[in-house]
Amino acid sequence: MPPLIAILGRPNVGKSTLFNRLLSRREAIVEDRPGVTRDRHYSQGTIGRKSFRLVDTGGILFGDDHPLGESIRKQALFALEEADAVIYVMDGREGYLPVDADVIGRIRRSGKPSVFAVNKVDTVKTEEVLADFHRHGVAPLIGISAAHGRNVDALLDPFLDLMPDTEDAFPVDPGIRFSEASESDIQAWLQRRKDDPPRVAVIGRPNVGKSTLVNRLLGEERLVTSPIPGTTRDAIDTLVTFRDKTYHFVDTAGLRKKGKVAEASELYAQIRTDRAILESEIAVVLLSAEDGLTDGDLRIIRQVIDHRRGLILAWNKWDTLKSTDHSLAPPFRDVRERYPFLSFAPMFGCSAKTGFHVSQLFGHIATVRDWYFTRVTTSELNNLLLPIVQASPPPRLKNHPVRIFYVTQVQIAPTVIMAFSNKPEGISHQYRQFLSRKIREKYPFVGVPFLLKVQAKSRK
Ligand code: GDP
Ligand code: GDP
Repeated sequence: MPPLIAILGRPNVGKSTLFNRLLSRREAIVEDRPGVTRDRHYSQGTIGRKSFRLVDTGGILFGDDHPLGESIRKQALFALEEADAVIYVMDGREGYLPVDADVIGRIRRSGKPSVFAVNKVDTVKTEEVLADFHRHGVAPLIGISAAHGRNVDALLDPFLDLMPDTEDAFPVDPGIRFSEASESDIQAWLQRRKDDPPRVAVIGRPNVGKSTLVNRLLGEERLVTSPIPGTTRDAIDTLVTFRDKTYHFVDTAGLRKKGKVAEASELYAQIRTDRAILESEIAVVLLSAEDGLTDGDLRIIRQVIDHRRGLILAWNKWDTLKSTDHSLAPPFRDVRERYPFLSFAPMFGCSAKTGFHVSQLFGHIATVRDWYFTRVTTSELNNLLLPIVQASPPPRLKNHPVRIFYVTQVQIAPTVIMAFSNKPEGISHQYRQFLSRKIREKYPFVGVPFLLKVQAKSRK
């Protein structure tokens, strides 16, 4: 997992400017993911071939009634518990302040890798400003201008050793790229992965019933459960056996106990959710049939789609509904009518409290897992899509025809399908959606938010 680097500092020192600066040029290369709203306070980036995660702790709100010093102290507490490394930002125009000294002391004592940035040195003389901080023994010290991008990359240098190569960024599920493996390697990899228990994350907004569900799964007498100690953190995963098949639920301990910082911060919950998604193959997003689909739910669903993990929508608290007819129930209808882009995800209703239909979860996991590891051959894809492209080609671009030469699945788990075109910029988001729909009509990829990318290729 890429290290989580926290940006700390008083308000107005330039944390969010720096945050955006550290990510801006890089996000462009990640890939185009339309419809995914980017979170402003938490994101992932790459520098060269290295990857990292970044959190702007200015986004952690502890309420306006906290005095400034207290709020910063909590920020630091959060960062020092959760982050792997710290960038502490100060304002060069204001100089070295007592409140900075206090936080710097805490960061030092934590032993976490850290750098100290003096921002806004664009408008003042660098040496003079830095001298003040040097006198107080602040090191390593880097003068930057977040607004102008000056020296900003240097802030990441001390952390490069912590960062995995982009390719290995997500060790639990790096997928396999066909271009980089022989046929026998691919087959061996797939077999190995299929033999392992499916890795499942149960996620959702607070109070939708996650811990009730997990406790029920662990408590059913038909289920044999055994804890697996987590490797680097407090999280404990659990193996659950149901009808002779074993399932690996990630971060179940995190669901059962609630952390002290967790209650204070939505951002913390988001980071924890992100981590669970990255460690899983399939995410079960628990929703409340009592509440219907909320913005908070959609944000979590988008996190799953963003990471291209398998997605299952489970409507909990089904016992609160009057109707027993599932297919016509308001929660189902609402999602299918208002959010057609979610139609790829299987959906079911259950009650963690009464146990109603909870075991249906396992059937959905099996289906989505199969599709998550499905490989459609290049000839199958081309036989399907090339006639469609011929009949309904993309619109011409500046009077040039836009062609698609062939389409091929380039990666499994997460699934990536690549179309090769003479003019990738001429293939709109709508056209990609059109092709994706056509693919799903023949190969439904149930629960799999596959990525359809377009790459440039000139005709031979
Ligand atoms: P935050 O509250 O720490 O997240 O600070 P912001 O990123 O919102 O920045 C606070 C103010 O400082 C904004 O008006 C920025 O435009 C300004 N600012 C940020 N970086 C620089 C810089 O490098 N030089 C100058 N002169 N202003 C900056
Ligand atoms: P979490 O924050 O997502 O882990 O949610 P909890 O498991 O702590 O549940 C929040 C509240 O919802 C508790 O009062 C539960 O008893 C209640 N709850 C959980 N599942 C169900 C359910 O299926 N039906 C009903 N009616 N209430 C439920």
